[in-house]
Amino acid sequence: MGDSFPRPLMSTAAAPPPLPASVDIVVIGAGQAGLSTAYHLKRLGLEPGTRFVVIDRSPAPGGAWQFRWPSLTLSTVNRIHDLPGLRFAEVVGTDQPDVQASVAVPRYFAVYEQTFDLRVVRPVEATVVCSRSDRLVVETTRGSIETRGLVNATGTWERPYVPDIPGASRFRGRQLHTKDYRTADEFAGLHVVIVGAGISAIQLLDEISRVTTTTWVTRREPQFLDRPFDENLGRAAVAIVEDRVRRGLPPASVVSATGIPLTPAIEAMRARGVLERLPMFDEIVEDGIRWADGRTLRADVILWCTGFRSALDHLGPLMLRSEAGGITMTGRLATQVARDPRVHLVGYGPSASTIGANRAGRAAAEELTKFLGLT
Ligand SMILES: Cc1cc2nc3c(=O)[nH]c(=O)nc-3n(C[C@H](O)[C@H](O)[C@H](O)COP(=O)(O)OP(=O)(O)OC[C@H]3O[C@@H](n4cnc5c(N)ncnc54)[C@H](O)[C@@H]3O)c2cc1C
Repeated sequence: MGDSFPRPLMSTAAAPPPLPASVDIVVIGAGQAGLSTAYHLKRLGLEPGTRFVVIDRSPAPGGAWQFRWPSLTLSTVNRIHDLPGLRFAEVVGTDQPDVQASVAVPRYFAVYEQTFDLRVVRPVEATVVCSRSDRLVVETTRGSIETRGLVNATGTWERPYVPDIPGASRFRGRQLHTKDYRTADEFAGLHVVIVGAGISAIQLLDEISRVTTTTWVTRREPQFLDRPFDENLGRAAVAIVEDRVRRGLPPASVVSATGIPLTPAIEAMRARGVLERLPMFDEIVEDGIRWADGRTLRADVILWCTGFRSALDHLGPLMLRSEAGGITMTGRLATQVARDPRVHLVGYGPSASTIGANRAGRAAAEELTKFLGLT
């Protein structure tokens, strides 16, 4: 157990907790970012369920991890950082490389929520948030909640991004996004075009190229680093993204900020010859893809590993966006929205990682309770 947080008794409440009509703070989303925020709000003396409430649209604990593909295991994720106060290994055990992330992380989050009695209310989706004088009103699928402050922790999983390429609707094969991927075996015998230069693209290319023929396409020449990911690299990437959001620019992904760290798996792919990359195509045709110079390639499947955007549509009425296209962020770890300091975004931009989400949750809880005069 970290900090000096007392460990409450495990509770096994059967009925879902009710949704309060009015609270000091609403936390939207119970992934790593929302749970870290909830832990720190409670540590600061706010009672869950009455002074603050966490809502989540998913049916069960686990954030987006519960939806990830089965071959993503504890040995293929980068690293899942402990939430504050309870170690991952304490719940899941150590040396479990083959356990699916979609099983292990939800188990950890479920125990975490119970251990600290965080009373997440689910499934409840925040559909729209409006400002009404000095209060915010969070409209949800189970009624509205009035609040003085808001911590938005809705992640990116709900907003898969696919670039708009001419001809996409003509394609007679199958198109899918990383989000829809389950297993490589379903592509056996088909020719699969994998688009994207991030870590997920490379992992899925690795898996699919073992069962069938693949073509890898990226917009830019992938930048492979000659060393593994380490803390210095992580810090450098976070600094770049933090600088962007402080200037009101849309956040960039960590990989686009640093390049792709070399791993033994990537070296093995290179040796197998599957890392030969083609530039982005310009058009999709009935049976494949076409480049502007007239070259074509037949394809049965196009797998878009082209990332995600932040799931922030429900915040539209607050008009948080700047002229630069992003949301100008301020505060200690850039979690506070400059245009409306009652609103914090955690797991957004520089805090879009498990370690970043942890730290952002703490900063948001401390700054928001102070701003609202609660601590
Ligand atoms: C394939 C993949 C692998 C990754 N691997 C790693 C890794 O190894 N290490 C690492 O540090 N990071 C990794 N990341 C990034 C990491 O998952 C995230 O940065 C972090 O877990 C996100 O936590 P979060 O709480 O911000 O979001 P999420 O886990 O997405 O949680 C958001 C929650 O908000 C809820 N929600 C969304 N919209 C609403 C709404 N309108 N109303 C109510 N609830 C809502 C969702 O149901 C969800 O439970 C990975 C990401 C991907 C896509």
